[in-house]
Amino acid sequence: MYTAIGYAAQSATTPLAPVKFERRSPRADDVAIEILYCGVCHSDIHQARNEWGIAVYPLMPGHEIVGKVTAVGTNVTKHKIGDLVGVGCMVDSCRSCEACQSNLEQYCLEGPTMTYATPDRVDGSNTMGGYCDSIVVSEHFVVRIPEKLDLASAAPILCAGITTYSPLKHYGVKAGDKVGILGMGGLGHMGIKFAKAMGAEVTLFTRSASKAEEARRQGADHVIVSTDAEQMKAAAGHFNFLLDTIPVQHDLNPYLDTLRFDGVHILVGLIEPVDPPVHAAKLVLGRRVLAGSLIGGVAETQEVLDFCAEHNITCDIEMLNIHQINEAFTRMIAGDVKYRFVIDMATLKV
Ligand code: NDP
Ligand code: ZN
Repeated sequence: MYTAIGYAAQSATTPLAPVKFERRSPRADDVAIEILYCGVCHSDIHQARNEWGIAVYPLMPGHEIVGKVTAVGTNVTKHKIGDLVGVGCMVDSCRSCEACQSNLEQYCLEGPTMTYATPDRVDGSNTMGGYCDSIVVSEHFVVRIPEKLDLASAAPILCAGITTYSPLKHYGVKAGDKVGILGMGGLGHMGIKFAKAMGAEVTLFTRSASKAEEARRQGADHVIVSTDAEQMKAAAGHFNFLLDTIPVQHDLNPYLDTLRFDGVHILVGLIEPVDPPVHAAKLVLGRRVLAGSLIGGVAETQEVLDFCAEHNITCDIEMLNIHQINEAFTRMIAGDVKYRFVIDMATLKV
């Protein structure tokens, strides 16, 4: 065991504050990592504030982790000391169920061990995320950061990137498809880039007309202001796919109207009940599909990192001093970040 330092919430109503805590010494299959950067995902806010009702305190968020290997267990073969590596949303799973055997650890039938606020499968301790100086993770859940990628802007690929890449790929988005991205935050801006790289014609749905120019810079061909009923109506029956990153309950019905027959509306932002309810006719009359998707498996996370290196895709980031993490949460809720905060972990020590 050794002492680590970081930022954690002690309850749903207290801000994140500095803490010292124990990290385990590496087990035989573990990699110890000095964390250099960690992205700030909207899930970190949901969890720190117990908005999903599953938080465990102290809760240390952070699942877009990039750093350098400092030690390896005796059985580790995939990584060595000095390697630049990443850890995303999961740190373990049962590894034997049908999902795990299919490289879909995120759908582990026993439930994956998440990077934070989940009991460790070996010792039962509460997992602590990446808002800190170091982490110890089984090598299977540690990915390689391609040399070509800038380290800080690679961090959000580990959640925002894989969460948008995986469903676009799974549903077979291809050249010429019409793809709508709902919300341009951390996930949404990556969704635009991936859909574009896959050859789609991309439209951003946003509440903020002011984001139009930025969206085009990210690769969007069109922008629809979702609060403008006329613009929504004009898009009726247009899209093959919608990728919905909106983090709060919202009316899906006007969006479903914009899908063609056989169109797919993929939810990634919402894990609460859909409210107001979906009118089933919108699905039935157009054989439309309402779907969901959770991050991506470890192999696919490596794949998206390599895809980003190959296609020169990077996240647009704003570097964050960790001491400003609570202000960053407030700014994210106000939509005031372009488009992902990434904590510079060197600021932890000053
Ligand atoms: P951000 O806060 O960075 O972005 C969310 C975007 O949604 C905003 O920029 C805004 O875009 C839009 N939005 C925000 N509030 C509202 C609102 N009240 N009504 C309509 N649109 C709104 O969040 P992230 O991209 O980090 O995360 C998005 C969601 O995805 C979160 O709920 C997160 O927990 C979830 N998530 C899910 C994962 C999965 O595996 N399924 C993995 C990671 C995250 P605009 O201003 O353009 O309208
Ligand atoms: Zn996330």
